[in-house]
Amino acid sequence: MVTTHSLGFPRIGAHRELKFALESFWHGQSDTNQLQQVATELRRRHWQQQAVLDIQPVGDFSLYDHVLDMSVTLGNLPQRVQSEHGHALDQYFRAARGRSANDSECQCVHASEMTKWFDTNYHYIVPEFHADTTFTLNAQRLVEQLREARAQGHRAKPVLIGPVTYLWLGKEKDRSNKLNLLPDLLSVYSELLGILAAEGAEWVQIDEPILVTELSSDWRHALTNAYHHLKHTGVKLLLATYFGELQDNLQLACELPVQGLHIDAINGHLEVNRVIDWLPTHKVLSLGVINGRNIWKSDLSATLDWLEPIAAKLGDRLWLAPSCSLLHVPVDVDNEQQIDNEVKHWLAFAQQKLHELALLARALNEGRDRVASALAINAKAIYSRQTSSRVHNPVVKHAVDSITTSFGQRQADFATRQLEQTRCLNLPLYPTTTIGSFPQTPDIRQARQQWRQGKLDQVRYTELMKLEIERAIREQETLGLDVLVHGEAERNDMVEYFGEQLDGYVFSQFGWVQSYGSRCVKPPILFGDISRPNAMTVYWTRFAQSLTDKPVKGMLTGPVTILNWSFVRDDQPRRDTCYQLALAIRDEVLDLEKAGVPIIQIDEAALREGLPLRQSQWQHYLDWAVDSFRICANAVSNATQIHTHMCYSEFNDIIEAIAHMDADVITIETSRSDMELLDAFEHFDYPNDIGPGVYDIHSPNIPHAADMVTLMKKAAQRIPAERLWVNPDCGLKTRQWHEVIPALQNMVQAAKTLRQIATSSVA
Ligand code: GLN
Ligand code: ZN
Repeated sequence: MVTTHSLGFPRIGAHRELKFALESFWHGQSDTNQLQQVATELRRRHWQQQAVLDIQPVGDFSLYDHVLDMSVTLGNLPQRVQSEHGHALDQYFRAARGRSANDSECQCVHASEMTKWFDTNYHYIVPEFHADTTFTLNAQRLVEQLREARAQGHRAKPVLIGPVTYLWLGKEKDRSNKLNLLPDLLSVYSELLGILAAEGAEWVQIDEPILVTELSSDWRHALTNAYHHLKHTGVKLLLATYFGELQDNLQLACELPVQGLHIDAINGHLEVNRVIDWLPTHKVLSLGVINGRNIWKSDLSATLDWLEPIAAKLGDRLWLAPSCSLLHVPVDVDNEQQIDNEVKHWLAFAQQKLHELALLARALNEGRDRVASALAINAKAIYSRQTSSRVHNPVVKHAVDSITTSFGQRQADFATRQLEQTRCLNLPLYPTTTIGSFPQTPDIRQARQQWRQGKLDQVRYTELMKLEIERAIREQETLGLDVLVHGEAERNDMVEYFGEQLDGYVFSQFGWVQSYGSRCVKPPILFGDISRPNAMTVYWTRFAQSLTDKPVKGMLTGPVTILNWSFVRDDQPRRDTCYQLALAIRDEVLDLEKAGVPIIQIDEAALREGLPLRQSQWQHYLDWAVDSFRICANAVSNATQIHTHMCYSEFNDIIEAIAHMDADVITIETSRSDMELLDAFEHFDYPNDIGPGVYDIHSPNIPHAADMVTLMKKAAQRIPAERLWVNPDCGLKTRQWHEVIPALQNMVQAAKTLRQIATSSVA
């Protein structure tokens, strides 16, 4: 008999219940009990939904982030948070976001860094390590939730991040070697596993996704060490890897002394037979056969053709699961009312994926005949997608085939362009700007909702958005910013907004996926060849420019980011889809230029997160990603200034590719990591302008002018002042005006101070 299980389930709720509960708690509108009640109810519901499988995960639920939860379990919250007042939940939220409910300005602490979870768009809170870090067990959350699931009649399997991956995810704050912490860490893990065994857990899933990355021998040894240490704790360990192939770690993964191994049989499809050969015959093999990273139905008959001989060979030792946690997909496609039926039939969200899995298991356990009609329905959907004329557009395919290298080349080099741009724009030293969005106020959201529901007509909606744009322009003029933005009031989301106007996309109403904490994104679904029927942003940008004499930046999302933040097709290489997007954005850039927009920012917030997990595959990705940017950006004349923005602080390792994009100005995130990013500039002479974000927009705290001056001085040690811009580290849509105004006042003040320092040092 085949056993089914899942590695984790979306926690935010089909209607983002957790998001709303968190935000109400943070704003002091509800208390701990109310928050915990929502959490308990969500867990109950999610286990019930997973009851179609044989085993349910426990501990994958989190109030903010599962890595932060692990830090709590291991007694490893940062010292600055631990010494704060209040209860454990306050400390938890302070570590995550700098403050908890009812914290006043002076009570806030420095939030921990946040970074992307492997190659996904989920962000985790980075554990912090020091040479003297010690761990102490706090098993309460896991034990309580295990009891909760068992009391509800589930065969519960606690899920933990493995000790070696936990270390790998964290960051040494003092240049010590975090691997030295392993022995102490392991004693806490074995204590924890012992407790889970005593609580009646039969299996514990222990995630070591680093096994799909390139590991040095230290890290490989650490894995061997760890699992020899954790051998006799009384529970069976299912070692879980996902997001890629094991490659040179395959043998290691098979040989670690655990009772079961889970592998990603979607990305690692070609390795499965080798794993079967290497895996000792007493071990369970869990195959992740349903893609946990996309929203397409699986071809169940094809999967069965492949699985049947494996099932015959492995018998009871075969488990089936999604390839990874379902955290990365929305909850239930059945809630969708607005996706047309043709496309909807091609889709499977978390709930549907669980049913696909159950169906596969039933076909294997009882024979295909028992599920013949369900298989026939599946086959019909697969065929319909393969042959639909909505997916395949010969004109678009031809346009991509006609791309030549000249598409990606500016007319002149940066120095020449800079002269022309300076002449047109006439900006001061240390020009100030923002990254694009201003607060999405409740009024804006409400107007959009009513417009979407047909309760507000197009004319009135447009008027309201124009009022917001006008407000943003006036505020920026009062603040004295140098390059203005229209504020993106009309955009729900920087990717969805474009997707909605491109052919080849559909949208879900409830397809939310957690990005970090309470923040969710609703990735649009790119199902077919991409084309742009009409200009997408010209109207709004032109309106904003008509209100002011200051230059207004046009705001676009770049092709790589649109690609990386959409659910994309799995029937052609990502590169081909990206080129299609690049051609559509290129037309938009040229339309903006024609409309007289002097500066165009093309956000590539997600360029880095598309990097393959293995460095050996980076260059290939960077080649087509950078090409796509160049294709969309570089057709403009010399006088048009191209900006790009990226939301991360690590790019030492891809700085050459970023320079090769050849944007005139790049704005980046640096504030959370204290300008650490700028280390890259010691070794590489970045040729163009750069705006190293001077304050962290993810936190509600108001930055001080003096701190921003200090950060910029650090930047000026590496980059000539003439090439520096002053800006926040990302868009301001998630903030409120009463936070944004004082923050930007201080920022503008900081720029003035910097200019004074520069003039007085020249004089
Ligand atoms: N222009 C976008 C904004 O300001 C950029 C957002 C982002 O980088 N994530 O909202
Ligand atoms: Zn950003």
